[in-house]
Amino acid sequence: MFDVDLSSAIAEIKRLKARIVALQVPEGLKKRAYQFAEDIENKAGAETIVVAEPCFGACDIPNSLFDLVDAIVNIGHSPIPSLRFPIPVIFVPARSKVPVSDTLKKAVGMLNEPVGVLAISQHLEQLDDVIDGLESMGVKTKIGEGDNRISHIGEVLGCNYTAAMSISKDVNSYLLIASGTFHAMGVHLATGKKVVVLDPNLEEPREIDQVLDKVLRQRHAVIERAERARTFGIIIGEKVGQRRLRRARELRKLLRWKKKDAMLIMMDKFDPDKLRSLGFDAYVSTACPRIAVDDMAMYDKPLLTPQELEIVLGVRKWENYSFDQMTEDEV
Ligand code: SF4
Repeated sequence: MFDVDLSSAIAEIKRLKARIVALQVPEGLKKRAYQFAEDIENKAGAETIVVAEPCFGACDIPNSLFDLVDAIVNIGHSPIPSLRFPIPVIFVPARSKVPVSDTLKKAVGMLNEPVGVLAISQHLEQLDDVIDGLESMGVKTKIGEGDNRISHIGEVLGCNYTAAMSISKDVNSYLLIASGTFHAMGVHLATGKKVVVLDPNLEEPREIDQVLDKVLRQRHAVIERAERARTFGIIIGEKVGQRRLRRARELRKLLRWKKKDAMLIMMDKFDPDKLRSLGFDAYVSTACPRIAVDDMAMYDKPLLTPQELEIVLGVRKWENYSFDQMTEDEV
């Protein structure tokens, strides 16, 4: 279902004269890792090491590779322009091939125009088809540019909705091409506008009201539990693209001002056992914003986002709840 064209990566590896490369492949494409690695070895002449660890984004480049290989090939994610790596990282898109026209016709009646059109990385090539399709049905569209953490017009990440926010005053709803609903909830919370999800693998477009309601109730419960906490661990992600030391320090200052004990913690892979051994009453993650929300059930102790901590400490109102975002000036 996904097109992966390695030709420009192979040309780049040859240009760099890289002798050894690491290959990162997202979970959904891992079964094709052997084929990708063989292509690189045969066509670029570089020894290729497949990284078995899961890779969730362009932010997720293991530090351990920098001393080991001459270049890294990361499949399935758009580059994050604000990030700098010590060795070349070659990003290869994995683009969905599933046509969207039938689902798009069903989505039209759910939208209020002008419609902001958005996509996650795997569906960026379908943006033009969706815009053409909507315009041919007489629906006015807009597309927004994100900050320097976003490399493609109209793209949203689970940690950055600036492409949606840049046009929020000019649109009355959004159509987001994506699988899952996390990004759609993030867009809605960041803009206050209706979001319809067009998942090319599903026959029906989706509204997010019910799932958002459930997630907000869960997050409210986590916040309530954290209000009883006295000691907080503030987690800094070790990955290059998630390392927000400044944000973590601000949160520690806020906690200490509110007479709570707070300590900074560095972590690469999040693991409930690691947090259990550290023994704090609650934790705040400044790393990937998806971890606290998606993996909530794995943690015994409250794991908050920075915005949720602000609610716990009374410096933000629940009515202003939003998902966490990382901006170009942070990482
Ligand atoms: Fe994706 Fe999370 Fe990385 Fe943002 S921080 S790019 S949402 S994996």
